[in-house]
Amino acid sequence: MLPQLYSHRWMDEDIEAFREQVRRYIAAELAPQLDGWRRQGFIPREVWRPFAALGFLLPEIAEVYGGAGATLAYQLVVQDELAKAEVPANTAVHNLAAHYILDYGTEAQKQRWLPKMASGELLAGIALTEPGCGSDLKALRTKARRDGGDYLIDGAKTFITNGFTANLLVVAVRTGEAGSRGVSLMVLETQDLPGFRVGRLLEKLGQHASDTAELFFDGVRIPADQLLGEKEGEGFIQLMSQLPYERLLLCVPAAAVMELAVELTVAYTKQRKAFGQTIFDFQNTRFKLAECATIAHVVRTFVNDCIQRLLDGTLDPEAAYMAKWWCTEQQGKVTDECLQLFGGYGYMAEYPIARLYADARIQRIYGGTTEIMKDLIARKLGA
Ligand SMILES: Cc1cc2nc3c(=O)[nH]c(=O)nc-3n(C[C@H](O)[C@H](O)[C@H](O)COP(=O)(O)OP(=O)(O)OC[C@H]3O[C@@H](n4cnc5c(N)ncnc54)[C@H](O)[C@@H]3O)c2cc1C
Repeated sequence: MLPQLYSHRWMDEDIEAFREQVRRYIAAELAPQLDGWRRQGFIPREVWRPFAALGFLLPEIAEVYGGAGATLAYQLVVQDELAKAEVPANTAVHNLAAHYILDYGTEAQKQRWLPKMASGELLAGIALTEPGCGSDLKALRTKARRDGGDYLIDGAKTFITNGFTANLLVVAVRTGEAGSRGVSLMVLETQDLPGFRVGRLLEKLGQHASDTAELFFDGVRIPADQLLGEKEGEGFIQLMSQLPYERLLLCVPAAAVMELAVELTVAYTKQRKAFGQTIFDFQNTRFKLAECATIAHVVRTFVNDCIQRLLDGTLDPEAAYMAKWWCTEQQGKVTDECLQLFGGYGYMAEYPIARLYADARIQRIYGGTTEIMKDLIARKLGA
């Protein structure tokens, strides 16, 4: 059994009791439905209502806005448990959208959207990426033009998580000059919104239960008070400010998945026999598993340290960039090594290790690619 490292300074009995409740709920209510959700390509929005009612959706949001006023650690524990059960990161995106509104919304905007987001009535997506730009976000072309008391939005987004199921979107648009200073964020309630269309539910290599979609905006009219915050042109700053937390929302699942992969592989190799002994008894297997367990342990230690620093307000962006690229690269490596030890069964979709391997691949791409993370670290080194 791996050392679980569930004894870091940021953990206490309350968090552990919460973790246990979340784990039990996921095992009873979500895990049994995952196969069906994978087949249909999305998790229905209604699933998050009872999840929210138990305080699991946005525990860290202040009580006045419908949350439980807990720390970010509670949200990260939820993401940890979801990842361990192979539930994809749809609620992490919802969570991040809530933080944009919490940190930059006007009081009226917070009161309008956060309680409904905390109850699961609204499920959010974040629409930044466009067919023509992802990493180079400041090149985005979706345009919002002022028209009296409204904005008119035209453009297209792609690869949007929750794109099919969300009824609230935080959308990055161009309201001004070229480059980052012309970018703003707008909040759209998309139910029956004229001019808004969800395109294809995109078929992916992995993460089959998570909906990823194209979105089209064709003269979408929204009142000007749906610009996030008070002023145009603040979008990039708003996006950048959440980056350290956003990176951790990806690193925690990376740690969880590696632990799961090792656990599954130990169990499998101990019962599978070849050449008169178990696969586990081959020295190669033992060494590989020892290496994977060590990597998982180091990743968890690093992630726990980052969480502590996040809670203390001392997590610098560079540490978060390091965590994002390194932990997700390790996730790829560990799931690959573990799959190998399953032999042909490891390639069969019905085996969790095959899914963990396929699901891991996107971790190095979304939320800022490995290359972009390294570039940002190098910029600081060279400054
Ligand atoms: C399953 C899935 C879910 C997603 N969810 C969302 C979502 O909810 N919302 C959203 O807005 N987006 C989402 N994305 C989009 C994702 O964030 C982008 O795919 C990612 O940022 C990379 O952008 P790109 O695909 O345009 O690649 P590009 O930017 O075209 O990059 C292509 C390659 O070039 C490399 N590269 C680019 N610039 C540099 C550089 N300066 N130096 C070195 N190498 C570089 C990249 O690292 C990459 O390897 C999702 C994507 C997927 C696949």
